[in-house]
Amino acid sequence: MKYLQEYRDPATAKKLVAAIKTAATRPWKIMEVCGGQTHSALKYGIDQLLDGVIELIHGPGCPVCVTPIEYIDKALAIAQAPGVIFCSFGDMLRVPGSASDLLGLKAQGADIRIVYSPLDALTLAQQNPDRQVVFFGVGFETTAPATALAAYQARQLNLENFTLLVCHVRVPPVIEALLHSPSNKVQGFLGAGHVCSIMGYHEYLPIAARYRIPIVITGFEPVDLLQGLYMTVQQLEEGRFEVENEYSRVVKEQGNLPAQELLLKVFDTVDRSWRGLGPIAGSGLALNADHDDWNAEQRFPVAGIATQESPLCRSGDVLQGLIKPTQCPEFGVRCTPDKPLGATMVSSEGACAAYFHYRIHPHV
Ligand code: SF4
Repeated sequence: MKYLQEYRDPATAKKLVAAIKTAATRPWKIMEVCGGQTHSALKYGIDQLLDGVIELIHGPGCPVCVTPIEYIDKALAIAQAPGVIFCSFGDMLRVPGSASDLLGLKAQGADIRIVYSPLDALTLAQQNPDRQVVFFGVGFETTAPATALAAYQARQLNLENFTLLVCHVRVPPVIEALLHSPSNKVQGFLGAGHVCSIMGYHEYLPIAARYRIPIVITGFEPVDLLQGLYMTVQQLEEGRFEVENEYSRVVKEQGNLPAQELLLKVFDTVDRSWRGLGPIAGSGLALNADHDDWNAEQRFPVAGIATQESPLCRSGDVLQGLIKPTQCPEFGVRCTPDKPLGATMVSSEGACAAYFHYRIHPHV
């Protein structure tokens, strides 16, 4: 199949649903890691079509949701510093920090700009030599290469008024952390196709073998998701624990090697705390010592910022698949997309927002 339409074909989808129901001799719990997959699953009603056959557990693959509150608070502090133009992807603006969010600061007059690429922020720095321009680099291995390119180019240009607040995260360590947890109930994973288009899937081979768990790298269209689920169920039923690639039209085992080389030139792998999940060893990417001069955390006094999460928000339990968003007492009550208590309700990829849009208010 080559064209998008084929991946939304109702007849193919129906055949795959029937094949999954025939293959499954018992209910299986399968996690889709990526927030984009969560939204597709709910949008097309895949969770409902497979009710009683597969329980979809929604994973921590929403970059906005997992960015720790500490970094939101650092972003808020830097954005308020005199002379700063603070640049961010738009979906970070409404994520609540301890006391405010970037959108609130912007409304109060801070110079906060939405950009579509870190290179836009770099251009802004070249155009405004008398201002400090800071880019907020968040997200998984999918967005990290563009941040790395901006840092690399800033160093090449010796651009003195540009820095990056970097909080990138890596998928394999969080999968291992979930599997280590005593409360884990995931029996198979749909791997995140976009991340694997950069990193390949060789990193998942030892995880599948060590934890005896199937991992099927999967795309985002309904037929992709159903095909990925079918391949996972087949493995579970046959007692196989392998990494398979449903998304071979985009993902190759070794991934995008030039992008990986760039990541190695610019970033170190570090321990990182995830919002709602806590610290995970080796799960972060941070600017290396060669790029200290372009590290916003070195240029602005943001070390040791004290943070405070909303005690009402259960997004950590949602991100680990321990509860469904609708089981949070605040869902749709004190927490809505217009007035979110937690990042999983803010982000367009967040599980709470997906349930709000597709299950509670399908016409919003
Ligand atoms: S519904 Fe709101 S308060 Fe509850 S877990 Fe989701 S984001 Fe947090």
